[in-house]
Amino acid sequence: MYRLKDAGYEAYLVGGGVRDLLLGREPKDFDVATNATPERVRELFRNCRLIGRRFRLAHVYFRGEIIEVATFRGHHGEGGNGESETRNGMVVRDNVYGTLEEDAVRRDFTVNALYYNIQDYSIVDYTGGLEDLHNGVLRLIGDPRQRYREDPVRMLRAVRFAAKLGFRLEKETEAALIELGELLTGVPPARLFDEMLKMFLGGQAVATFELMRHYNQFGILFPQTEKALEREEQGFPITFLLHAMENTDRRIAEQKPVTPAFLYAALLWEPVRQLARELEAEGMSRIQSLQVAGDRVLERQRRIISIPRRFTLQMREIWAAQERLTQRTGKRAYRILSHPRFRASYDFLLLRAQSGEVEPELGEWWTRFQGADEQQRQEMLAKLKGSRQQRSGSRRRRPRKRQAARPNPTTP
Ligand code: ATP
Ligand code: MG
Repeated sequence: MYRLKDAGYEAYLVGGGVRDLLLGREPKDFDVATNATPERVRELFRNCRLIGRRFRLAHVYFRGEIIEVATFRGHHGEGGNGESETRNGMVVRDNVYGTLEEDAVRRDFTVNALYYNIQDYSIVDYTGGLEDLHNGVLRLIGDPRQRYREDPVRMLRAVRFAAKLGFRLEKETEAALIELGELLTGVPPARLFDEMLKMFLGGQAVATFELMRHYNQFGILFPQTEKALEREEQGFPITFLLHAMENTDRRIAEQKPVTPAFLYAALLWEPVRQLARELEAEGMSRIQSLQVAGDRVLERQRRIISIPRRFTLQMREIWAAQERLTQRTGKRAYRILSHPRFRASYDFLLLRAQSGEVEPELGEWWTRFQGADEQQRQEMLAKLKGSRQQRSGSRRRRPRKRQAARPNPTTP
């Protein structure tokens, strides 16, 4: 900002950086708004790249971080659905620059349209953002219906910020959100994938999930899961998802890695599990029914949210492993243990056990098996063979003839 200023330009810190600093929170990233064109920004910064086909932005690399530097934007080029127009194979950029005030009113929420001015250390506020920030209110700038129509992703951003900041939605901002939810189906699936990661991997997955369900966004974006949740059995499905979200939030708080594959495997587990059981009842083997159910659920989900292939491959492995983890005899246990997806599959199993979906003993067995030495492992496997409990995985499975002889804790 000082370099831009010294070169004779205006430069302001804007967006989440200002908002979070004013709230005493640590900003996730920094955005800068300036009246210098992207080309001028590039001339001023060696460590700079221009990105964006539709609207050009400069990314300046600074102390290991990327600062997004955007030129004040005018009224044109609204829509923001991430698609660019092409003419004769050339991308037509709708770079329409504007004034600071125009730049402010095209932003989404008033609390996101505050500018920090390094010239005099003041905050520039054209939209009443400071007052809203003070009152904990999330208010869309302008006419909410029009702004959601321009870019329906703003409906997701409303929920994400409400969950993250603990703010409440202003009345009209909220009413329009409830009314126009279906517009989300028109958002390109790739953009929805990116937004979902921000929503669920931002450290507030539980609150976000609950708000999304409250505003029926969840049902629109994950219709299969929503339907499976309605078929609630002893409170299990919703418990599992909440545990998965809590687990995600905890891992993020502890700075442990979280993967999109694990998150999506959890989000879609209920419909997969229910469909697999139906297929099994029709005579399919258990492992095959999990695979077929997984494929079908993924195919439907990907029409709404495009999950990249590298993640769906891992999701399938995590799901299939839920059956394999119950088969521990012979060399099987060793084979599963050395599988690259073992850790994720085991974590997934623990979540299911925590939600009462499988016997806790199964998860505990794997915990012990991992920590055991070779001789202890042999003993554990021998014991299993003795008690013939190698397939004591699912609690809610219909009892089979083969197992009818041994006592089952959930069948009276
Ligand atoms: P965070 O980075 O903490 O998620 P943020 O507010 O910085 O929150 P970004 O996605 O980084 O959000 O966007 C930076 C700023 O750009 C926002 O504060 C807002 O002013 C503007 N902005 C982003 N997306 C939109 C949108 N869809 N419509 C209008 N303005 C937007
Ligand atoms: Mg930001």
